[in-house]
Amino acid sequence: MDEVKSTERVLSLGKANPLHGVVYWNPTKSTWITSFTLIGIIGGALTFSWDAFLVFIVLSAVTICGGHSVGMHRLLIHRSFKTHIWLEHFLVYLGVLVGMAGPHGMIKLHDFRDWGQRQTKCHPFFAHTAGFWKDAWWQLHCSIQLDHEPEFIIEENVQNDRFYKIVEATWMWQQLPLAIILFVLGGLPWVIWGIAVRVSVSLIGHWLVGYYAHQPREQVLHVENTAVQGYNLPNLGIITFGEAYHENHHAFPSSANLGIMKGQVDLGWWLIQSLSSFGLVEKINSPENLEPRKGLVVRNNQSNEWSSWLADLPKQC
Ligand SMILES: [Zn+2]
Ligand SMILES: [Zn+2]
Repeated sequence: MDEVKSTERVLSLGKANPLHGVVYWNPTKSTWITSFTLIGIIGGALTFSWDAFLVFIVLSAVTICGGHSVGMHRLLIHRSFKTHIWLEHFLVYLGVLVGMAGPHGMIKLHDFRDWGQRQTKCHPFFAHTAGFWKDAWWQLHCSIQLDHEPEFIIEENVQNDRFYKIVEATWMWQQLPLAIILFVLGGLPWVIWGIAVRVSVSLIGHWLVGYYAHQPREQVLHVENTAVQGYNLPNLGIITFGEAYHENHHAFPSSANLGIMKGQVDLGWWLIQSLSSFGLVEKINSPENLEPRKGLVVRNNQSNEWSSWLADLPKQC
């Protein structure tokens, strides 16, 4: 194994190794997704109504775009822009409602995978290379225990933030207040569609995008000497609020803009832009003001005239 690199929060001290470990069944995670999926399928069919379906669509959009993508991923994890703490808490809370993990847990899940993918070799759990069904089982029902874990340190202001501590300890229970509101407003159908169907679709959708965004396909932005490449899934760009432009994310991890190439609609970026027009967001990162990631080269690019940052990158034929 080559030298194991550290990332900002994941420190490769001692024997830390991203390759060797065991994937084990995680009963809490597995019961969580299985329950919502079964309630979603059976209850969703029995209680379908157009207003409940609309609740599912609107709540999914708000929690995935404002919460998961902009709040958790672009802000809390990558610090790709700055905002007021109350707005940060609100956006991250929307991300907790997606039902994947609390704020600390999300940072850990993301950063361990990112750390693994940045090495020259990593476990197939991090690389999504175990095959479709096995990867589904692993990512949705299991966790990984590495033989030699790296050190993981969350920055103090996030670690000691009281609000984050509370939602971290209670993230599963955070569906409850929303469920009560939905029950009061629309009865059981709204609860089933607004909670069970939404959480199940969000978690399975998140895995599917993560799976396909790491399976080899045509690529323009390539990062050399890493175990895993990211790929753009342009057809999913709109419904993932920009998260499916994963090749761009590997190239510029701390860019707030994920749809950085021609024709890529990134609704998460639009949200950040509109918050900025109200003066709520500042210091926004994008490829124009970021250093390209080490090892980044441009491949198969036919039209690099439209963007100065792309034209400046080293080319590889
Ligand atoms: Zn990736
Ligand atoms: Zn990321």
